Amino acid sequence: MANAYHHAVSSARRFGGTPEAYQPIHDWLDASKMIIADFRHRALRHHAEGCFAAEALFGTTITNSDGRAIPVRLIAEQHILEDLGRIPSFADWVRCIRPVPWMARAGTNLDGGEVDHG
Ligand SMILES: [Zn+2]
Repeated sequence: MANAYHHAVSSARRFGGTPEAYQPIHDWLDASKMIIADFRHRALRHHAEGCFAAEALFGTTITNSDGRAIPVRLIAEQHILEDLGRIPSFADWVRCIRPVPWMARAGTNLDGGEVDHG
């Protein structure tokens, strides 16, 4: 599923009401497309911690147009499951980052140990 609007339509089908109540959560999840335009944008928020971050930002629940309280984490999980087929951890994303020297410049080597600056 490529567009936040289609995720909102899917939320309305699943949880009731109209898509508008769900749109801000799906927009926030996919706002990382401003950083990188391909699927790698998902590394920023499409993971378990991203579901909790959505909850911290939007509250425990939102009220849909039917007047029902819907848990924000369930909405975020639905979005991620539709995009990825699973909810990865952030660690799953990090394991896919190829370490390069500039990442360790702050004084540790790639194994996390101290760098001897001689
Ligand atoms: Zn997405």
